[in-house]
Amino acid sequence: MHEFSLIAKYFARAAPNAVLGVGDDCALVAPTHGHQLAITTDTLVDGVHFFTGTDARKLGHKALAVNLSDLAAMGATPHWATLAITLPAVDSAWLAEFAAGLFALADNFHVSLIGGDTTRGPLSITLTAIGEVPIGQALYRHGAQIGDDVWVSGDLGGPPLAVAERYGKLPEFSAVSQSVREQAHLKLDHPQPRVALGIALRGVAHAAIDVSDGLVQDLHHIVARSSHSQPLAAHITLPSLPLHPACAALRTASPQATWHAALAGGDEYELAFTAPLVARERVTEIAKQTGVACTRIGEIVASAKPQVLVIDASNAPMLVDAGGFNHFT
Ligand code: ADP
Ligand code: MG
Repeated sequence: MHEFSLIAKYFARAAPNAVLGVGDDCALVAPTHGHQLAITTDTLVDGVHFFTGTDARKLGHKALAVNLSDLAAMGATPHWATLAITLPAVDSAWLAEFAAGLFALADNFHVSLIGGDTTRGPLSITLTAIGEVPIGQALYRHGAQIGDDVWVSGDLGGPPLAVAERYGKLPEFSAVSQSVREQAHLKLDHPQPRVALGIALRGVAHAAIDVSDGLVQDLHHIVARSSHSQPLAAHITLPSLPLHPACAALRTASPQATWHAALAGGDEYELAFTAPLVARERVTEIAKQTGVACTRIGEIVASAKPQVLVIDASNAPMLVDAGGFNHFT
């Protein structure tokens, strides 16, 4: 199949919210007055970000979901996306499934695919997502303040345990019921970007990030960026962490694996954010409105250096070996 017929068959769809979608040298979009564009890119590489042979529909979903998660962490409303895809061969069944997964999620959030690039080579998927946020309302990493509560959406630890199970690294996990383990795998393959939550947190959260590399590492980005006038730390209390059911089920058999998954595991696509004390009720309301639980897990304090400190049930600081997931170490 020729490149152009492939694009036409699988990726050229109506783009109602764009001036011009797929087919010309560029797409054209008209930004909304009084808004800024929020632009983010994420790449999924075969064998690095997903297991070789992963279901194409799940990949289509995830490639867009991880980008929408970044927009959510910025408080942006998603509108447009481009897709740069490198394929080893043209496999019609694979492409149809991939496109189905991608467009199902895109339709959910009224995102139009407006362009891209198609090349031959080892399987790799790069999605760029573009959203909008009213001027002055973006949620930065650098806005955390002393006294802020630290919050996290949803729950933690499910996807990293699913990854560990796929690598055959976690024999204890097999004692957890199959349906609960399946929930962890579902969350890994089919993350739900917290778009509505991110938008609702405009003007409420002081700082936000999405948890893609591990809670501790991602919170570290917030405290590091927010330590502009003085060093800040995030103090996180271990017992307050909302655990995914699969993670909670492993707690007695393997506390080590449980806490490591919740604190250092990636692929969560939850939002971690800070908000002032006065916003507690507001955050609780937002959680109800959006149907996404938000749990208070700690606070931002003054510190000798920027750091994330995890405090266990006996009030002792824990050593988290976890920078989280880092491609270059
Ligand atoms: P050019 O050579 O000018 O870069 P291409 O031939 O690569 O254009 O692409 C033709 C049109 O198809 C462009 O509008 C481009 O944005 C779009 N396109 C290419 N690949 C994809 C894809 N995987 N998904 C969506 N649109 C695509
Ligand atoms: Mg091109």
